[in-house]
Amino acid sequence: MKDSIARAVAAAAPRPLWLDLADATGRTPEGAPPVAGDTTCDLAIVGGGFSGLWTALLAKERDPGRDVVLLEANAVAWAASGRNGGFVSSSLTHGLANGADRWPGEIATLERLGLANLDELEQTIARYGIDCSFQRSGKMWVATRPHETYELERMCGLAAAHGRRITPLSADQARARVDSPTYLSGALDEEGYALVDPVALAHGLRAACERLGVRVHEGTPVTDLTSTPRGIVLSTPYGRVGAHQVALATNVFPSLLRRLRLFIVPVYDYVLATRPLSPEELASLGWAGGEGVSDCGNQFHYYRRTPDDRILWGGYDAVYHYGNGLRPELDQRPETFLKLAEQFYETFPQLEGVGFSHRWGGAIDTCTRFCAFFGTAKGGRVAYALGFTGLGVASARFGANVMLDLLSGTPTERTELEMVRSTPIPFPPEPVRYLGVELTRRSMVAADDRGGRRNLWLRTLDRLGVGFDS
Ligand SMILES: Cc1cc2nc3c(=O)[nH]c(=O)nc-3n(C[C@H](O)[C@H](O)[C@H](O)COP(=O)(O)OP(=O)(O)OC[C@H]3O[C@@H](n4cnc5c(N)ncnc54)[C@H](O)[C@@H]3O)c2cc1C
Repeated sequence: MKDSIARAVAAAAPRPLWLDLADATGRTPEGAPPVAGDTTCDLAIVGGGFSGLWTALLAKERDPGRDVVLLEANAVAWAASGRNGGFVSSSLTHGLANGADRWPGEIATLERLGLANLDELEQTIARYGIDCSFQRSGKMWVATRPHETYELERMCGLAAAHGRRITPLSADQARARVDSPTYLSGALDEEGYALVDPVALAHGLRAACERLGVRVHEGTPVTDLTSTPRGIVLSTPYGRVGAHQVALATNVFPSLLRRLRLFIVPVYDYVLATRPLSPEELASLGWAGGEGVSDCGNQFHYYRRTPDDRILWGGYDAVYHYGNGLRPELDQRPETFLKLAEQFYETFPQLEGVGFSHRWGGAIDTCTRFCAFFGTAKGGRVAYALGFTGLGVASARFGANVMLDLLSGTPTERTELEMVRSTPIPFPPEPVRYLGVELTRRSMVAADDRGGRRNLWLRTLDRLGVGFDS
């Protein structure tokens, strides 16, 4: 069995499924040209993932006359925005529990703003006719270890206390939705989650931006930001861009503001996708509702059906490389793919023999509070949003609005939030950073194996406000 699983993994293409789907359907847009010579603009945006694209689109919607330039080092959506699971969550705080712990006084507002952000995201997709398989299909959490049933009950209780409806499910009810013998119970959030093809969404956003007059330049790394009396000059290998204001949407990549580098570590997350399933294979799963699914250990899987009837299966290992390692070769990790594949067949034994078509990985911009933080620099002319920690598909849109609010200089409900005004605790320098991340990872694995009991290290992190509890 182990050999056949290894062969199934090896046969998969080492590339994100979503990029291949765009190519296969002829929907990959032509590359946008790099900057050619010096130019100027009102607002320059650095980064062509969801954060940058939403900032560009919202800037034009707020003020159609604003001259907006988007500079992307590689190609739109080549990084996290084109590699994710396509789970679109209303949460701005990486889950209600994390938000309620950190900002108990404003969690109701954060939940309301998060749901509004998800609704507006859906409306924008409809308004611009973006064909990205967006489906408000909800999410089911499943318990696969006895103590996780208790954690799901706690989650449902917390949701109820904050006016959110997350419905507890028995094992039979969970299995009636998606049939796995590993499920002990479940919980269903029907209002706060959607699924999307993220590359199709990013390409659609890019097209909408261009229609509104945004100048998009791919293949254009920004190497430096300098203040001048009239604004900010962005240096690129092909020319300088003089901008009145700048939004930094560079996520996990080394920030152009050096001080921000202390706040982010890249943590690699890996994903497999099966070949398209036959109608009989699909029938063996049930899964008529099409909801996204996730189990709920500290090391958890997330999985979903894709628009072309594959199963995307990701998560579990979270790998940090010494010195903030961020290199293309780290996108592939054979031992993680093998582990993921074995766990896939344990979850769905009825799919034994179904092979994988794609395997890929990507770096997650992890910060110590596990959700985005924001701010300005250079006299308020530069704004940034980063640290989405693996839940940024929808909250990147909120981050874009925060950056534009901050640049406008006028306080808004968003900019007055404690969550927006506070910053996370920075990571220590190496080698303490590596040792700390590794100790945390091992402790979380141990907690999963010991009925959820957190050891002294995790309890200390919890007390310091930097403990992760998925
Ligand atoms: C494997 C994986 C699975 C995930 N699954 C989910 C999920 O299911 N749901 C969810 O909500 N989130 C998920 N996430 C997280 C989510 O994808 C990210 O939070 C989100 O896409 C971040 O968008 P972004 O625009 O900030 O960053 P990115 O998409 O990383 O874009 C940043 C861009 O900035 C560019 N850039 C950086 N520096 C420069 C520079 N100096 N000059 C020019 N350009 C520059 C980069 O080239 C890059 O294109 C996942 C992430 C990964 C890696």
